[in-house]
Amino acid sequence: MRCAAPLTRGPRKGEPATGSLAGFQRHARAGEAPCPACRRANAEAGRRRRDKPGPQLPPQLPAQLPAAQRTVAELRRQGRLEPVDAALVEAFLGLAEAVDANPWSAPLWGRYREAGEALRQVGATDGRDAARSLLAQLSDDID
Ligand SMILES: [Zn+2]
Repeated sequence: MRCAAPLTRGPRKGEPATGSLAGFQRHARAGEAPCPACRRANAEAGRRRRDKPGPQLPPQLPAQLPAAQRTVAELRRQGRLEPVDAALVEAFLGLAEAVDANPWSAPLWGRYREAGEALRQVGATDGRDAARSLLAQLSDDID
């Protein structure tokens, strides 16, 4: 994992970056889905950021994570996700979260789109139009 390398500065210097915001950012820079510990660290950092006044993300950038979660919930509800798809779902949600945290990272958007496309193919074997339109919608939100 990208985050396992030691931190080079700060109070935790020398410890692995896993479970820190720096670790989360390493995943993001690598264009990979963050591990659960780093996702938690990022969520906590996000809460701290929101608690204090300061510049927010531009309003024209919709949050991807809630949209991604709705997509996954809908696919599940329709019985279109199998247990074997869990890793893909995790990657998709992790990338949605990473994209929300780093909205200006083009490589991340690319990975996120690929994950969405892969999910769509998982759900496309027998006329799964609802899944397709959901993901097309999601794709439109991104463009
Ligand atoms: Zn990590």
